[in-house]
Amino acid sequence: MDITSQEIDAIVQKVLAGIQTGGAAPVQPSYTCKTAAAAAPASAAGDNGVFENVDDAVEAAWKAQREWVANFKIEDRRRIIEAIRRCARAHVEEWSRKIVEETGMGRYEDKVEKHLAVINKTPGPECLTTEALSGDTGLMLEEYAPFGVIAAITPTTNPTETIINNTISMIAGGNTVVFNVHPRAKRVSAQCLQELNKAIVEAGGPANLLTMTREPTMEAVDQLAANPKIRLMAGTGGMGMVNALLRSGKKCIGAGAGNPPVIVDETADIALAGQKLYEGASFDNNILCFAEKEVFAVGSAYDGLLHELKKNGAYLLSAAQTEQLVRICLKPKKNGGHEVNKDWVGKNANEILRQIGVQVPDTCRLAVCETPADHPFVLVEQMMPILPVVRVGSFEEAVECALVAEHGNRHTASIFSKDVDHMTRFARAIETTIYVKNSATKAGVGIGGEGHCTMTIAGPTGEGITCAKSFCRRRRCVLAEGGLRIV
Ligand code: NAD
Repeated sequence: MDITSQEIDAIVQKVLAGIQTGGAAPVQPSYTCKTAAAAAPASAAGDNGVFENVDDAVEAAWKAQREWVANFKIEDRRRIIEAIRRCARAHVEEWSRKIVEETGMGRYEDKVEKHLAVINKTPGPECLTTEALSGDTGLMLEEYAPFGVIAAITPTTNPTETIINNTISMIAGGNTVVFNVHPRAKRVSAQCLQELNKAIVEAGGPANLLTMTREPTMEAVDQLAANPKIRLMAGTGGMGMVNALLRSGKKCIGAGAGNPPVIVDETADIALAGQKLYEGASFDNNILCFAEKEVFAVGSAYDGLLHELKKNGAYLLSAAQTEQLVRICLKPKKNGGHEVNKDWVGKNANEILRQIGVQVPDTCRLAVCETPADHPFVLVEQMMPILPVVRVGSFEEAVECALVAEHGNRHTASIFSKDVDHMTRFARAIETTIYVKNSATKAGVGIGGEGHCTMTIAGPTGEGITCAKSFCRRRRCVLAEGGLRIV
C-alpha cells in the first residue's frame, strides 16, 4: 500500500476540519478513499450486497470493513445490530416459507422458531469483554479485535438462520462478511442478505457490510481462500466442505457434521425421554446437525421408550417396512456402506411413509424403527424424521455403540438418566461440543435451554458454540509500571 504525500495532506486537512468544527470528521484511510474514488463498473457496484463475481464482492466488503472500524463506535455496532434483529423479525414468516419452497426441506413452524432463536439469542458486542491485569510490572489489556473480511460458507439446512447468526456474531467484532451460500438456497439467502444490508444502511451503517456472489459455487470457495483480503474462512456444513477449508492454508473455523447419539438408561424418566425425543428428532424434520439421530435404550428402558414415542405420535415401523425405507432413503456406496439419498432429506414423515404405502396424517412427525447398532439408519447422518432405537444390554454397551455411531465428530450427544455417574461417564467418553442431559438436544443451542444460540457449532476447530468472540483476534497492549495503575 503506497500513500502519497497528497493523500497524507488530505487526511491532515480532514482532521483539522474536524477539530475546527468541534466535530469528529470521519477520517478515511487513504487506501479506502482510493478504492471509493475509482470509477467502478456497474456490475462491480453490486445490488445491495449481491455481486456478479467473487473479487468484486471481496473488494466491496473490504472497503466496508475499513469504514466500519474507522468510523463506527461500539455503540453504533449495537444500534445497527438491533436494526438487523428488527429487520429479520419482520421477515421471519416470509423467509421460513421461502426456505421450505426453495430447498424442499423442513417444516415452516420450526423454521420460525429457529429464526427467532438466532434473532433473539445471538449475542452482539456485549460478549467482547476486555481483560485487564495489573501487577508489579505494570498494566496489561487484552481486547477482541476484528480479523477483517471473513468468508462465511452457509448450509442449505439453515440458510437464512446462519446468515443472520453469522452476521451478528461477525460484525459485532468489527468484521465484514462475504458469504458463499448453498446453491440450493441462493434465492432466499440473497434476499435475506439484501434486506439486512438495507436495514444496516437505513440505520446509518456502511453499504456492503455483507456481500455475496449471485451464483455461489465450489470454485468461489477456492477463490475466497486465495484472496489475500480474506483473513478468515468460516464454514458451516458437511465434512467435505470443512476438510476443503482446513486444506486451504488459511485460518479457518469449521462447523461440520454430527450424528448425535442418545442414551436412555434404566433410571431415566421414560415419559420425559419419549416426549423430548419425539420433539427433538422431528424438529424441522431432523435436518439440524445437532438433532437426535439414533437412540440406545438400556434393558428395561427399551419397551417403555417405544411405548412413549408412539404415545407422543410416532409411527412404529415393522422390520420389513424399515428395510423398504432403507432402499428409498439411502443409497449403497461403491466401496460399501450407505450414503443419504438427498431427495428425502428433510421431508415430512408422512410423505416418506407414503412411499411404502403407509398413510398417516401430517401431525405424525416421526417414524421410529427397531434396529441393531450397525444398521445404516444408525450409522448414516440421514437428516430425516426416522429415528432408529437400538436395544442394548448395559450402559457400557450403550456408550460403546454411541461412540461408533458418532464417528468421532465430537458434535452433540445426550442422555436421559438420573444416574449422575452415567451422565458423567458418557460425557467423558463421547467428548462432544454439546452434551444435553434430560432434554432435547436443541436445548444445547438455547432453544428450550440456557445459553446463547448459534447455527455454527465449530467442533472440528474447537470454537464450539460460536459467538462474536470466536470471530475476533486477541490483541494485547502493555503499559510499564509507573503508568496508569492506581495502587
Ligand atoms: P454441504 O456440505 O452440502 O454444504 C455446505 C456448504 O458448503 C454449501 O455452501 C456448499 O455449497 C459448500 N460446499 C460443499 N462441499 C464443498 C466443497 N468440497 N468445497 C467447498 N464448498 C463446499 O452441507 P448441507 O447439506 O448444506 O448441510 C448439511 C450438513 O451440514 C450436515 O452434515 C450437517 O450436520 C452440517 N451442518 C453442521 C452445522 C454445524 O454447526 N456444525 C450446522 C449446519 C449443518
